[in-house]
Amino acid sequence: MRGRVADLVSAGAEVIHFDVMDGQFVPPITFGHQLIQGLRDLGGTFFEAHLMTVTPERHFQAFAEAGCQRITFHAEATAHTHRLVQTLHSMGVQAGVALNPGTPAEMVEGVADIADLILVMTVNPGWGGQEFIGSTLEKIRRIRAWAPSADIEVDGGIDPETLPTCREAGANVFVVGHYLTKQADLGAGLRELNALCG
Ligand code: ZN
Repeated sequence: MRGRVADLVSAGAEVIHFDVMDGQFVPPITFGHQLIQGLRDLGGTFFEAHLMTVTPERHFQAFAEAGCQRITFHAEATAHTHRLVQTLHSMGVQAGVALNPGTPAEMVEGVADIADLILVMTVNPGWGGQEFIGSTLEKIRRIRAWAPSADIEVDGGIDPETLPTCREAGANVFVVGHYLTKQADLGAGLRELNALCG
């Protein structure tokens, strides 16, 4: 893990996106804040924790103290998206709110003006390497209309084919996992994707 993150940092990745899974919100378990804290010495690259967990607010402090500049939690995991965005801001970190593919855009309409980022999952969370779900594009368009200045991030099945489609729909932050792991030259892969970001 450390080696892969170090490679991404030296290849010039703008953000390192950590998928935190708790075995409850999604079946797999990945890692916690200690792992991220142990990577903070790799440099100043922006760290985002994507919390695929129940009761996300219980983990905010730990991930903020571990050095994450943005913490993204799932709207499906709380009845209080607005309050949790405020909580993250009070900790001095950016707040992201994520939506599963089956969750309607309306779940984030009320936080579109205060969240720093809306994450539209373009596959079902839990596993890498899944195929992009095309019906999420309409959701991106609707959210972009509500949140003209927020970052809209897409996560799942992003590659040189799907990235431009998501960008056209209004996304401006692209999480790429599987596609980059297949590249023999990580730097070249990142440059190829960055060029598509305009
Ligand atoms: Zn993610």
